[in-house]
Amino acid sequence: MSAHFSSDAPVVRHDWQRDELLALFDLPFPELLHRASAVHRVHFDPAEVQVSTLLSVKTGGCPEDCAYCPQAQRYDTGVSAQKLMDADEVLAKAAQAKAAGASRFCMGAAWRSPKDRDIPKVAEMIRGVKAMGLETCATLGMLSGEQAHALKDAGLDYYNHNLDTAPDFYGDIIHTRQYQDRLDTLEHVRDAGMKTCCGGIVGMGESRDQRAGLLQALANLPSQPDSVPINRLVQVAGTPLHGTTELDPFEFVRTIAVARLVMPASMVRLSAGREAMSDELQALCFLAGANSIFYGEKLLTTGNPDTGRDQALFARLGLRPMAVQVENVHDHHRTDAPGSGTVHADITRSEPSCGRAA
Ligand code: SF4
Repeated sequence: MSAHFSSDAPVVRHDWQRDELLALFDLPFPELLHRASAVHRVHFDPAEVQVSTLLSVKTGGCPEDCAYCPQAQRYDTGVSAQKLMDADEVLAKAAQAKAAGASRFCMGAAWRSPKDRDIPKVAEMIRGVKAMGLETCATLGMLSGEQAHALKDAGLDYYNHNLDTAPDFYGDIIHTRQYQDRLDTLEHVRDAGMKTCCGGIVGMGESRDQRAGLLQALANLPSQPDSVPINRLVQVAGTPLHGTTELDPFEFVRTIAVARLVMPASMVRLSAGREAMSDELQALCFLAGANSIFYGEKLLTTGNPDTGRDQALFARLGLRPMAVQVENVHDHHRTDAPGSGTVHADITRSEPSCGRAA
């Protein structure tokens, strides 16, 4: 986390009530953004944005039924199941990413949870990435306590595991696991001494009350997530949520602002869905307190036009990539950023809207 820019640091609370969050959502838009922006600069330099990307080390074929996800094998989305990449292949990607300026490499796998036999393979990747001097992060699904410790021992800095949505909407989206399962994995990650990346997805047909409920659940975790990815649903044909009414863009900005207010010291990340946002909407999100972006695996693609778009947007807004931090980060999927050597990079794989996408 960045330096504090004021001594008036807001208290990090873990007792938020839903009506308090709804009262924030209900503020006049300029007032809400003003408050969020003021809190943002207490903890962060408002001109800095962390940039992250991800590499999928195992894509598709997931047995879960997340209604938003094209990687679920039960939905006909055209995503084919691939096996776990070889460590050598992953390390080659990590080396590419590092050469392009990445500092963080996040490995994502479309699993319900890793099998114990998968852990040594992932651990080999983690050790190799760590040996390159990169930060390590992963998003692999649910973890047991033993698995979390094994990954930590291999050098894993961050783990991404999203709550996805409010507890009272979760059953509308996912039936193959329970909310408590998510909380249990997060506890295992914390107990193992890793940092958490945890957020959710909006625009899935939830109410404002339920959006507030997601942020309430995140803020009231025993330790607020170091990073909070806020994904805007990417509607993929073949998934049950294809055709859902689009979320009002201003409501998305309000969600970012309330996230900033209730989790003042966390990185709030624009994740899946950002590519479809206008430059103006992204600028509003930065004003509302977003200070991290999710970039998919574009870093690995030379001359990628999206990279150019982000660089141009940063230049137009006077923003700069956050300087490399020597500790860590996380996510279920993601990597990193615009071609500056001071970019923060998380490499994990970025399927459009997998809840693991940071
Ligand atoms: S979001 Fe993750 S757990 Fe859910 S179907 Fe997709 S890959 Fe599987």
